[in-house]
Amino acid sequence: MYNKKILITSALPYIHGILHIGNLVGSLLPADVYYKYMKLLNRDVIFICGSDSHGTMFEVSAKKAGIPTADYVYDMHEKNKKILECFGLEFTYYGITNSENNKKITYEIFKKLDKNGYIFEKNSEMFYCEDCKLYLADRWVEGKCAHCGGLARGDQCDDCTKILDTNEILNPICIHCGRKNITRKKLKNLYLDLPKIWAHKKLDVWLNSNKMDSFPLAVTKGYLNKGLKARAISRSGTNWGFHIPKQGFEEQVFYVWFDAPIGYVGITKDWCDISGEKLENWWKTNKVKLVQFLGKDNIFFHSIFFPCILKGADENYNLVNKLKGYAFLLGGKTKFSKSRGVGLNNEVALETFPADYWRFYLIYKLPEKTDTLFSWEDFQRIINKELIDNFGNLVHRVKTLIKTKNIIDLPQVNIEKSTLYEKIKNNLDNELLLSKVLKDILNECAEANKFMQDKAPWKSGDSNDKFTQSKKEGSLREAKNKEVLKELYIKIQIISKLISPIIPNAIKRLESGENKPLFEKITDEKIKEQIKKFDLDDDKPKEQIKKFDLDDDKPKEQINNFSKLDLKIGEIIFAEPILDSDKLLVLQVDFGSEKRQIVSGIRAHYSPSQLIGKKAVFLTNLKPRTLKGFESQGMILIAEKRDGLAQKWSILIVETSEKGSAVFVEPTELKLHSEIEFSDFQAVNLVVNKKGEVIYNNKPLTTKNEKIKTDRKVESGAQIY
Ligand SMILES: [Zn+2]
Ligand SMILES: [Zn+2]
Repeated sequence: MYNKKILITSALPYIHGILHIGNLVGSLLPADVYYKYMKLLNRDVIFICGSDSHGTMFEVSAKKAGIPTADYVYDMHEKNKKILECFGLEFTYYGITNSENNKKITYEIFKKLDKNGYIFEKNSEMFYCEDCKLYLADRWVEGKCAHCGGLARGDQCDDCTKILDTNEILNPICIHCGRKNITRKKLKNLYLDLPKIWAHKKLDVWLNSNKMDSFPLAVTKGYLNKGLKARAISRSGTNWGFHIPKQGFEEQVFYVWFDAPIGYVGITKDWCDISGEKLENWWKTNKVKLVQFLGKDNIFFHSIFFPCILKGADENYNLVNKLKGYAFLLGGKTKFSKSRGVGLNNEVALETFPADYWRFYLIYKLPEKTDTLFSWEDFQRIINKELIDNFGNLVHRVKTLIKTKNIIDLPQVNIEKSTLYEKIKNNLDNELLLSKVLKDILNECAEANKFMQDKAPWKSGDSNDKFTQSKKEGSLREAKNKEVLKELYIKIQIISKLISPIIPNAIKRLESGENKPLFEKITDEKIKEQIKKFDLDDDKPKEQIKKFDLDDDKPKEQINNFSKLDLKIGEIIFAEPILDSDKLLVLQVDFGSEKRQIVSGIRAHYSPSQLIGKKAVFLTNLKPRTLKGFESQGMILIAEKRDGLAQKWSILIVETSEKGSAVFVEPTELKLHSEIEFSDFQAVNLVVNKKGEVIYNNKPLTTKNEKIKTDRKVESGAQIY
């Protein structure tokens, strides 16, 4: 008997725009599926979530739309809430951080932190608009990121996602007036002393005994190894948020990340007020298991920042017991976007396919350990093969046969006695890997399908097939068929019940006795439509490639090894070492129409600063690989002369070509851009000649502007790897 209550939270979605499926998969959907399973297991469970509603971003957007900030926020709150419901998400309570309860609890916690000596004042530099006579908090200032040259919006760069100080934002512009009459002024801010709390409250001990999953644990330790720093929790120059209840700071509001995690408590209190429950019974007792779901970009705030806030307040709040941090589902060629018209957001996704299709696919692809990649072809394949062929058709065939054979004495099914139930329960109470839950169910489906195929219960005893020799044998056969179908009935009852948290709508229809097939297969036409609508174009028109495929008159030699390579110029906008590897760097590369993450073993030869800003040659159609938990969506080309120990290394670069430019030896040749293996690349012999050019078949590699060259001098004869 499980004797703990379970409190589930999902990262509070930042409702600026309509959430996209990347947002959904990173915390909301797995939390919902887990919640539904816990109810199925008859656990005492609640699921608390809500909109993260503070931050200057809302003020800026509301001003642009010409409406009050609160109107803008509550409008987005309602819209997103509705869409989440359409996806079949259900919450015990879905609230908002901008609530009276949350304000009250935020104040209580802040005052305790202050009293306990964990808050201090410090001068820090802020942008100040001399025309508007205003401090420019966070999103009220934009400029150029000093690290990557991208769009720096207030405290964070849009492109490289680095958190920025004022001196890391170049050419700042005031968003209120659009002018650049900006100075830097010192201003008193309040800081939360994270290192002090972490040490005083022995949070290292807590962390090591917490049994956190290896992925969020590694991320957390990475932050701790870099050294904790105090964080500013006050903001000037904005009115949207909770004003700070401390003398001299009344004009400032709390930084959004201070009151957002406290929102888990505040929103629970909102629910308590309605349900008559006591907050203490959910947040201040060891009889509750707190399970938090979030994306990898929020791990710091849940494994360090929030525990420090709660422990520092000394109010006996529970810390997280199970932290599920997910990697990202990347759009690949498909643009995920929060805005309509520029990509796939959740509203558009629901107009395209039913919610259950998305739920099934996203749990199947759940990025539990590494980033995973979305594509429409993959979506079609998994829905048709697994959801429809493996599960849907099984259920439909068994139900139809039971009906035509008029079997009425169907057995009672006790799913709790099944091995599948035990297996799933174990998984959920321990490692909590939802994609594995689904795969276990699908294996059960496959076995049931095989069982049905072997026993062929549709073959009637009265017909003239090889099984029937006489009337007696015929009725024997019918009796056997009935037994087989009853057994299959038990199997599909168990499977449907246990898959219901993942595809709740379909199972509801099934249980209501609907006789139609549950799903419709996704046709090639429909998928092509989506690709056309949402995917970025290849740089060659698709028709041209198709024509080449079909045209038998072309000499076959044209499909030489080189033309299999999709080589492109990419600008390295960010590079960072992987913590536990002395070889690997993670690069963020801009190809103009898309950005990709590429992992490369060049750490020993290049430092991040030697790479950032360079435009280099990349192989972009190499099958994605995962290195040390990081997905690599391509490869940077390296020239290397291997003679003895003195290795000479260089990347291949261009000066004037634009990012995204194609790299070729013959500008007119046709290219096939399907995914290739590393061995396909090795089959192509590329070398550096005496002039420092890169040569294939005696011809130099070029873009339409210039020849490719090496970044450093390497001897002629160096090979490209
Ligand atoms: Zn940047
Ligand atoms: Zn201004």
